[in-house]
Amino acid sequence: MRLAGKNHPMYRHAARTNGQSLAYNSWRSMRSRCLNAKDHKYPRYGGAGIRICAQWNDFARFLADMGPRPSRAYSIDRIDNWGHYEPGNCRWADGKTQNNNRDDNHRVTFQGENLTLTKWERRLGLDRRMLLKRLAKGLSVERAFTLKPQPRRALIPNLICRNGHAFTPENVYMQPNGQRRCRSCKRITQKRRKQ
Ligand SMILES: [Zn+2]
Repeated sequence: MRLAGKNHPMYRHAARTNGQSLAYNSWRSMRSRCLNAKDHKYPRYGGAGIRICAQWNDFARFLADMGPRPSRAYSIDRIDNWGHYEPGNCRWADGKTQNNNRDDNHRVTFQGENLTLTKWERRLGLDRRMLLKRLAKGLSVERAFTLKPQPRRALIPNLICRNGHAFTPENVYMQPNGQRRCRSCKRITQKRRKQ
């Protein structure tokens, strides 16, 4: 990634007002920690699969979605810590709000025990984001933590079939019901049938 210097037109554009210029600094840092493998924060961001939505490659779009950054005390807060940098999951928040959103502080009492959501996730074997969504929908903790998970789509699409063939565009075909199938596996099955 090329970092823009102070003479970059975007910088001058951003420097027009303070809120814009502060937002520009945040935007650059966000891009660096998600895209620049040399950034010391990269392992917790880009390296951990946190992405930036395509439209936010454009600072003007980012600024239009986020609005100016209120002050230096504010930074980009991902509302769902596991979510990406994209409209709907990001807001400007000061340190206090961010701390409250951090997992260590996201504690939930269930059956008389007060644990972090991450601990509950492990204990119950339920996806943390699903628990968060349920609570956000207004379900009681009892319901949110005891309902069986609905069959969920994989959070990260499988990159290989169950026999280990890569799901490249050439190797994938869709069934009428929308399921992905592996051409290599199909070929193997057909061969076996012929034998
Ligand atoms: Zn296969």
